[in-house]
Amino acid sequence: MGESSDKQLSIVVPVFNERENLEALHEEIRAALDGRCRYEIIYIDDGSTDGGFELLQRLHQSGPNVRVVRFRKNFGQTAALAAGFRMARGTVIVPLDADRQNDPADIPRLVEKLDEGYDIVSGWRKKRRDTFITRTLPSRMGNWLIGKITGVKLHDYGCTLKAYRAASLKDIRLYGEMHRFIPALASWGGERITEMVVNHRPRTMGRTKYGLSRTFKVILDLITIKFLASFSTKPIYVFGGLGGLCLLGSILSGMAVLYYKYLADPPINMNRNPLLVLTMMLMTTAVQFIMLGLLAEILVRTYHESQGRPIYVVEQVLEATSPSDEPTDRPT
Ligand code: UDP
Ligand code: MG
Repeated sequence: MGESSDKQLSIVVPVFNERENLEALHEEIRAALDGRCRYEIIYIDDGSTDGGFELLQRLHQSGPNVRVVRFRKNFGQTAALAAGFRMARGTVIVPLDADRQNDPADIPRLVEKLDEGYDIVSGWRKKRRDTFITRTLPSRMGNWLIGKITGVKLHDYGCTLKAYRAASLKDIRLYGEMHRFIPALASWGGERITEMVVNHRPRTMGRTKYGLSRTFKVILDLITIKFLASFSTKPIYVFGGLGGLCLLGSILSGMAVLYYKYLADPPINMNRNPLLVLTMMLMTTAVQFIMLGLLAEILVRTYHESQGRPIYVVEQVLEATSPSDEPTDRPT
């Protein structure tokens, strides 16, 4: 990233009760970027109660490229990041933790890597400085699982420090705590993703905002994401499949009931045979599943059509070059 770089960076920093870290962090970001490229820093104060906002006001005054958003209350890191992404004016967006665990000195390298033809460069905290049992271990298992399920293998989904081409975030909507899954979400739209080892430092000031419960949220988010990815345009394939299985089970068990009544020796009366209940239950479930699938089909159409969201992503269109040709297939 030379002086002449045409990139403009938006550094997005979610802040929740990090007063002791802010000034030092701000200095580090400036030291890493000043004179290298044009950039803005967007701080999102996620409802801090430690007086951190006053400090952010001062930072805002200290330079022309500092922007600050203050949330009404604590909405969570994902919401803070989403707000920052939406405001960002740069061509490259780099989110970063406010607790100084990420090292701003890594930013130029990450951004340069984009030039090799990537849309997202994800940070990998190879030497992670967090407690093993509550952080590093769940995170390892989480990353493995996310990689398996989404098909996008990264060592460190949880690292906030990443570099995104702004366009790759444009269509991504974040819910729950889904900021961790952005690379997976983006790769389904065809974005090119790579990772790069970044520095990680122990937290010296302030306290971590997460406990073990995060692990469960990640797993639930993962289920949602898998479902959305595979079936959001064709839900009847999932529900219809399950319904089909139930129907098959129902037919088999129904045949067993008939066998025991008419062919077995001695015969078992239908009303004495527990398989009859199973037959009925599976049949009902099968119908329910298929109905649910049809309902979901309607929802999906509403979702895509109300937002004008196509079910594909176009990279490029090569149009007809001869100007005299009137397009014939366009409705008037
Ligand atoms: N954070 C936030 N809102 C929250 C929780 C966290 O903006 O509700 C910010 C926090 O200030 C920090 C970043 O998200 O900048 C990561 O938080 P933390 O360091 O606690 O997470 P960890 O590093 O332990 O994963
Ligand atoms: Mg941290």
